[in-house]
Amino acid sequence: FLSGKTAVITGSNSGIGLGIAHEMARAGADLVINSFTDAPEDHALAESLAAEHGVKVRYIQADMSKGEQCRALIEQAGRCDILVNNAGIQHVAPIDQFPVEKWDAIIAINLSSAFHTTAVALPMMRKAGWGRVVNIASAHGLRASEFKSAYVAAKHGIVGLTKVTALETAREHITANAICPGYVLTPIVEKQIPDQMKTHNMSREDVIAKVMLDRQPSGEFATTAQIGGTAVFLCSAAADQITGTTISVDGGWTAM
Ligand code: NAD
Repeated sequence: FLSGKTAVITGSNSGIGLGIAHEMARAGADLVINSFTDAPEDHALAESLAAEHGVKVRYIQADMSKGEQCRALIEQAGRCDILVNNAGIQHVAPIDQFPVEKWDAIIAINLSSAFHTTAVALPMMRKAGWGRVVNIASAHGLRASEFKSAYVAAKHGIVGLTKVTALETAREHITANAICPGYVLTPIVEKQIPDQMKTHNMSREDVIAKVMLDRQPSGEFATTAQIGGTAVFLCSAAADQITGTTISVDGGWTAM
C-alpha cells in the first residue's frame, strides 16, 4: 500500500533503521537510506534491498551531526512522503564526567537532525498533499536512567518536536508520531554492554538480564522488524488520525 511513496530513513545502514527500511520496502515504498559513511557496502546494501523487495533504493551519504548535510539529504532525495528520523548515538557517563563533545554530538544527531530534515521535508509533503513523520525516540523519551543525560535529554526533546510538528501539520493530511522502543539488540546496545559491565561491575549476562531487560517486564528484547512494522502501521490509513503521540514498543517498560 506504500507503492509510489518514497521513505527517507536516516541512519539506516544498520540496526533499527535497516529494519524499518525492510518493512517499508515490503509495503512497497521506494527508499532513500543513509549514513555518514560512503563505503561500497552501503551502496551494495541499497542494491540488495532493491533486489529483495522490487523497489527503488538509493543510498545517500550525509552526516546527521551537521545541519546543512541533514537538509541536503532531503533535498537530494527530491521527494519525501515518509520521513523516518532514526539516526542516533549513545554515550554512558555520569553528568560531572560527561565529555562535552559527546553531549554536543548526541544533541546534534539524536535531536537537531530531525529539526533540519523535517524543515525541508514538510514543504514536499504539503505539495504532495500527504505525509508521515516518524521519529524514533526511545523509552528514554518518556523515562530517565542514570548516566544517560544527553540521550535522555535528546529523546525527551524529540518527543516535544514530534508534538509541535503534529500541531503545525494537523489540517494537511500529514501526521507526526514518535516510536519509543525499549531495548532492541542492535550495535548501539552491544556497544553499551562493556561500559555497563564496568559501571556496574557485572558480567555481560548480568548486564543484559539485570540492567537492560530488568526494565523490560516481557524479559525479551524488541526486534528491529517489530519497530519497522510499527512505523509501517503509522503510514497506514488506520493511523490517519494518530498524530502528535508516542507509541511504546518496550515490553511494558513504561507501564511501570
Ligand atoms: P545502530 O547503532 O545500529 O544504528 C544507528 C544508525 O545511525 C546507524 O545506521 C549509523 O550508521 C547511523 N548514524 C550514527 N551516526 C550518524 C551520523 N552522524 N549521521 C548519519 N547516520 C548516523 O543503533 P540502533 O539501535 O539501530 O538505533 C537507531 C535509533 O533507535 C537511534 O535513534 C536509537 O537511539 C533508537 N533506539 C534504539 C534502541 C535500542 O535498544 N537499540 C532503543 C530505543 C531507541
